[in-house]
Amino acid sequence: MGAAIQLNRLGYQNIAILDREDDLGGTWHVNRYPGLTVDVPSTTYSYRFEPNPYWSRLYAPGAELKTYAEHVADKYDLRRYMRFNTVVDGARWDEEAQVWVVTLSGGHTLRTQFLILATGYLCQPKKPDIDGIDSFAGTVLHAQEWDDSYSLKGKRAAIIGTGSTGVQLIPKLADEVAELTVYQRTPIWVMPKLDFGFGPTAQRLFAKFPATQRVLRVSSDLFMDIMVTLAMWRFRQFRPVNRIAATIGRLHRFLAIRDKGLRRKLTPGYDFGCKRPTLSNVYYRTFNKSHVHLETAGIERIEPDGIVGKDGSKRPIDTLVLATGFDVWESNLPAIEVVGREGRNLGKWWRENKFQAYEGLTVPLFPNLLTQASPYAWVGMSWFDTVEYQMRHMDRLFSELQRTGARTFEVTDEANARFLERMLTLLDDSVFVLGNCANSRSYWFNGTGEAPLFRPTTVRQAVKEQERFPLSDYAIA
Ligand code: NAP
Repeated sequence: MGAAIQLNRLGYQNIAILDREDDLGGTWHVNRYPGLTVDVPSTTYSYRFEPNPYWSRLYAPGAELKTYAEHVADKYDLRRYMRFNTVVDGARWDEEAQVWVVTLSGGHTLRTQFLILATGYLCQPKKPDIDGIDSFAGTVLHAQEWDDSYSLKGKRAAIIGTGSTGVQLIPKLADEVAELTVYQRTPIWVMPKLDFGFGPTAQRLFAKFPATQRVLRVSSDLFMDIMVTLAMWRFRQFRPVNRIAATIGRLHRFLAIRDKGLRRKLTPGYDFGCKRPTLSNVYYRTFNKSHVHLETAGIERIEPDGIVGKDGSKRPIDTLVLATGFDVWESNLPAIEVVGREGRNLGKWWRENKFQAYEGLTVPLFPNLLTQASPYAWVGMSWFDTVEYQMRHMDRLFSELQRTGARTFEVTDEANARFLERMLTLLDDSVFVLGNCANSRSYWFNGTGEAPLFRPTTVRQAVKEQERFPLSDYAIA
């Protein structure tokens, strides 16, 4: 939607937004599991140009994010472009006609001058490859396909997965079920959540005097940006900041759990920042409840009526909850097959060479293509920061196209190589390279041990650079 708003601002009206889901909102449409909230302050997790005075809390519930997405779509009149239940199979650059040919499942094709891939990093839910999982006779609930009509009351449930999703779900499940067993493979860093509500008075104030909400936004933006930059990207120079964050995490665990053995099991064996840390004031306390059990021995197999652990113990269950995350590296990046000039296949090229994209957006031999969830695109923790710096990049690039009357752009090999080199050099100072991440099992790393998702700069730098990248980095014709 951000890209479509930017295209509109540049004067483009002939736009199609293709979406395999049946409504808008992406993540915030698909995810409806109990306990879903945003885990970045809502003041930061929203467009700067479209503040929302009506968040009910600093960390708003998921449903409010969906409502916000609907509001943006309506206000910027984007629904007219949207085609739902439309699955895209692939796209191929037609060199002769100088257009992208986009193939939809069902065989239809669309032809377009510009193509923007905005499919996200976390869009292919992963089902764990556990022996016997398909033989389970009870109910399986996937976090991304939640069945609201299923009552958890009194159930004997197990959950697999203790990432951001699991950390939000587990306390809610524990409130409902009779028995809950949590299968943890890798403990996660859980930090205290400084959350508070915005009553009607605060909301009226934000609506009437937007500057008041902007003050809050500047604070939450700065806090997030400084923490990520110092604790993760400048690990070499600011190791103590990372240590302080880890100490806060340890203290949080210590204050919530008295049982030493339980605390040890929940202690991450890798540095803060190797894997997405989570926020919760209730997660750790949930494990103090007598009907909540933590299993860390690993899963041997799943049987029709329960789960057998690697230590031989069996937990009889009737409900299995999967919070097992997403496939980032196999069926995604890119989410569809994309073939550019000279037959270059994007996914294949990324895998045979390094993952790379100039300014996290464009790739040599892929003219007129922008890929938003790219290598080195993700800046800060709020996805909106990424979208907004990319909108600025579009503004500068497309304005040049219009100024010169050109029809195509393509990033040069030289500019792309220079950007990649810079990202790799910056990463040399990061916790990813210098920290102890070996046991983190973080999806931020790919199979070859590289961590090419993040742009390891401040958000501010990423934004500034879009206003001055050399236009000669593109062949514009
Ligand atoms: P995730 O962080 O990848 O966590 C998946 C969990 O499932 C991990 O604990 C993983 O264990 C476990 N798992 C996967 N396969 C397994 C197997 N075969 N056996 C045992 N355990 C298995 O996924 P997520 O929790 O869905 O979060 C993904 C990202 O989504 C987050 O990092 C965040 O960026 C975003 N998110 C945001 C929000 C929010 O803003 N509210 C909420 C949820 C998610 P290992 O760690 O050992 O692999």
